Amino acid sequence: MAKKSVQTGLVHNDYLAPAGFGAFPVPIHHASTVLFSSVAAMRSRNWQDKSAYTYGLHGTPTTFTLEARLAAIESGKHCLLAPSGLAAIAMVHMALLRSGDDVLIPENVYNPNRDFANWMARDFGVQVRYYDPLVGAGIAALLLDNTRLVWAEAPGSVSMEVPDIPAICQAARARGIPVALDNTWSAGLAFAAFDHGVDIVMQALTKYQSGGSDVLMGAVITRDEELHRRIEMAHMRLGLGVSADDTFLVLRGLPTLKLRFDAHDAGGRAVAAWLKSRPEIARVLHPALPDCPGHETWKRDFTGAGGLFSVVFDERYSEEQTDRFIDSLRLFGIGFSWGGANSLCVPYRIGQMRSGWAGSGQLVRFNVGLEDPQDLIADIEQALRSLEG
Ligand SMILES: *Cc1c(COP(=O)(O)O)cnc(C)c1O
Repeated sequence: MAKKSVQTGLVHNDYLAPAGFGAFPVPIHHASTVLFSSVAAMRSRNWQDKSAYTYGLHGTPTTFTLEARLAAIESGKHCLLAPSGLAAIAMVHMALLRSGDDVLIPENVYNPNRDFANWMARDFGVQVRYYDPLVGAGIAALLLDNTRLVWAEAPGSVSMEVPDIPAICQAARARGIPVALDNTWSAGLAFAAFDHGVDIVMQALTKYQSGGSDVLMGAVITRDEELHRRIEMAHMRLGLGVSADDTFLVLRGLPTLKLRFDAHDAGGRAVAAWLKSRPEIARVLHPALPDCPGHETWKRDFTGAGGLFSVVFDERYSEEQTDRFIDSLRLFGIGFSWGGANSLCVPYRIGQMRSGWAGSGQLVRFNVGLEDPQDLIADIEQALRSLEG
């Protein structure tokens, strides 16, 4: 071949770095196009076969590695990545529901999941019904011939009820209906979802898996091949890709996941126990404490707790007063999400978010980060003084 022009040389260069480079981090592969060695290789390649590559959206060595590691944490078999936890939730809805179908959603569900379901009801002809998260085996009476999916959240990440997942799953399984669990609170570490009967696990990797408060990602994990294939079709059709750099950030968080989770757990329990002793607080909604609905279920089924819990203030305090309390905190940021090193605190108007909420005290949610719990307690103690100001 004649000597290439400078321009072509800029695009095609013969240098290939030597193979065999060894290092601990998983390489970050950026790619839209994936190259085939021949047309025959291209024609024979199936995008669903994860023994090889077809296109950036269908996976790279970086995303395949994260999928495999996440599936292993949950003792699942298959994993699909989505650009946020909410996208993972939406993908499950879209994969399993069509017009005329019925879906059951718990009252303690992550609020954007509720909003998505209501959108399906309003514009896509899906019937959506809400159930008491403490319904247990009573869910059997709610299952209809056209029920195609039951969602659960253990515990709900604001009001913190711990549902009886084995009872819900047993009733749904008897009717051949899959149960999808938002298992974000336990990070897949403190609750073995599949062993308790769950069919589909959803994780917001944005939280503990990343641990850095710097990335958004979600995952859907399954054991059942047929369910995985159905969700995978929705994943492909919706074009849900994740960035190689974000995937790397989540992979980097995984080796320390359990150490961080255990630290959040210990810190959360210390702060929750202290709050329980305070006269300003009517109820501490931490699954490891008896105030929390479903506490006995948590004791039976869980091996740990996340750093996220809520409190209900005594009803003598107005929203204005509890807002002042939050504004007075110095070590707690005011913001959504959780699972990072920094503690956070947010108020929720829980009575307006859902039905079936009794009581009028202000609900405030704490995410205990990785600071020393004694410093967090001292901070809360000084902020509580602002209540009376
Ligand atoms: C944060 C969260 C999600 C959604 O995750 P994003 O990545 O923020 O979209 C879903 N479920 C629960 C319980 C969450 O806390």
